[in-house]
Amino acid sequence: MNHKAPIIFNTIGLGWAGPLILKMGTEAENQKYIKGILTADDIWCQGFSEPDNGSDLGNAQTRAVREGDEYVLNGSKIWTTHGTYAKYMILLARTNPEAKNKYAGLSFFLSPMHAPGITTSPIRKITGEYGFTQTFFDEARIPAECLMGQEGQGWMIAMQTLQFERSVDGGQATKYNFKSITSADLIETCRTIQRDGKPLLEDPVVQDQLVQFIMEERNFLLNLKRSELNALCTDYPMSLMLSGKLEATELFRRMRQYAVSLQGAKGGLYIHDDEALNGGIWQHAYFNIFSATIGGGTSQVQNNIIAEHALQRRAKDDFGKRTQLLQGYIAHRTG
Ligand SMILES: Cc1cc2nc3c(=O)[nH]c(=O)nc-3n(C[C@H](O)[C@H](O)[C@H](O)COP(=O)(O)OP(=O)(O)OC[C@H]3O[C@@H](n4cnc5c(N)ncnc54)[C@H](O)[C@@H]3O)c2cc1C
Repeated sequence: MNHKAPIIFNTIGLGWAGPLILKMGTEAENQKYIKGILTADDIWCQGFSEPDNGSDLGNAQTRAVREGDEYVLNGSKIWTTHGTYAKYMILLARTNPEAKNKYAGLSFFLSPMHAPGITTSPIRKITGEYGFTQTFFDEARIPAECLMGQEGQGWMIAMQTLQFERSVDGGQATKYNFKSITSADLIETCRTIQRDGKPLLEDPVVQDQLVQFIMEERNFLLNLKRSELNALCTDYPMSLMLSGKLEATELFRRMRQYAVSLQGAKGGLYIHDDEALNGGIWQHAYFNIFSATIGGGTSQVQNNIIAEHALQRRAKDDFGKRTQLLQGYIAHRTG
């Protein structure tokens, strides 16, 4: 990480498909998949988002219909990271469109990517690089044993997958991992850029902003450490994890935006331009960081989740405690 090596290639396999199989898979699934994930012989991808259903994942419409010993798949997934290279996909598909609610009709598959009827089409990113595909299922047939758990358990398994995904570093289809450029790099850049014959680092306004970034970054890193110690987050165990992705990705986006803005007219230059500062790394990183604020749940959706699953619960608990105190007080006064 300190040497800015490229991200681990099998992010999805190592980061969330593997842990998911270890936690919820059968012995046969463990035997079949884990070794290939660890050796990176088997690259995994994730088929959750669809062209019309990204944040609203529960509304996924890709169909899986059981026919004898097979499932027949029809539909399309999009933003499939590593879709071109992947051998397997963790796939969320609808097995029962008549279920009592949209979530209950979903099932989860450990699907091969190399099956007749499954094709991928590369998507170019704003950075100019590739990394995603749109994946099409056209009467594709996969063995029925690819179903993970039972039919109808897809939503529950997908939520477990996202727990792994959201607490794992970003990166995904990115070249520079979002943690690989830090406030220390920003300080170095401010040393390099000259304004009125002096390094920007000597400007007190710039210093103020840098201190703010350093504090936020430190806060994020300390919270990350804290979340590893159960004893330090017993009250609301998930709130740190839930807020970590949101805070980190938004902080790093602001830092990169700031670094670009400090470059004046040169901020408009991009990688491969000889005149670009540091080879245009900040411009590239700035474009790239948006992916981290979107992938695995957008910042807006993360805000909703924090509000609903951490703050609302806390508010309810606080209300419960206050009610208890009040009842105790009334009992004391009237007793
Ligand atoms: C780097 C990267 C890698 C990815 N890799 C994969 C992958 O491997 N597999 C995969 O399946 N997907 C992947 N995705 C897709 C990602 O999960 C979706 O882009 C994301 O969930 C958002 O869905 P969407 O793009 O359809 O946007 P939409 O859901 O259409 O959202 C559009 C806008 O509306 C806002 N919005 C939506 N709903 C709400 C709401 N309820 N409240 C407030 N605001 C809302 C969003 O915040 C966003 O700003 C990846 C994305 C990125 C950027």
